[in-house]
Amino acid sequence: MSIVVFTDIDDTLIQTKRKCENGNGAEMAVTAIDKEAQPASFSSAGQLHFYHWCNDQRLIPVTGRNKEALDRVSLSFDTYKVIDHGAIILDKENKIEADWLQLLTRESNQWQEILDQYVEDVLAIITEQGLSLRCRVISDFGFPCYISIKGESTDLLRLDGIAERFCQQAENARVHINGKNMALLPPYACKKRAVEFLQKILIAAHSNLLFLGVGDSNSDLAFMSSCHFQVIPSVSQISQDKLL
Ligand SMILES: [Mg+2]
Repeated sequence: MSIVVFTDIDDTLIQTKRKCENGNGAEMAVTAIDKEAQPASFSSAGQLHFYHWCNDQRLIPVTGRNKEALDRVSLSFDTYKVIDHGAIILDKENKIEADWLQLLTRESNQWQEILDQYVEDVLAIITEQGLSLRCRVISDFGFPCYISIKGESTDLLRLDGIAERFCQQAENARVHINGKNMALLPPYACKKRAVEFLQKILIAAHSNLLFLGVGDSNSDLAFMSSCHFQVIPSVSQISQDKLL
């Protein structure tokens, strides 16, 4: 039986200095840089060991990062990649998977204007209420993928109303919140849907596959539940909210 690991990246395999257990990133390996090429995220020896074990299996990242941000992570992933919260699925050649491309083209077309309008609405609230937040549509490979809102976590709570309204736009429109980040996700930006799409491809090509789902955020639970086993870091949003 071969194992396929679907894993989130941030706060699962790597984390920023602030979130490192000893608080300063010392004795941690640098595993991602920022846009200025400075160390941005770190991994413990245990995280690296876990990554290498996963990489001996078939390891598929399932991340909110876009391609550019994924390229700043030094861990390598050489099979499929699920990025942009599931909006983009890349094949081994880093091209959008052919069948997914058709689906994405059709669905994102219907959402371009809606996403632009929500960004305008959020920016208006930020200005009106003097919130310490930034908001924009994250596009990748020319497709609008999701709305990213970053800043003070207390200020993010002030967007409750607009987030709720966004979720009512469509059955599978969702909001992801973890710490200082909020993402408004159209239905095609869905880690679970992307993972299940890849599982079908993998099952068609290989028999006897065992799927592991690895992640730290409550919003990862949906894709993890599509796998045979779930793996959760001890320090994580899921452990804090659901397990303790
Ligand atoms: Mg994460």
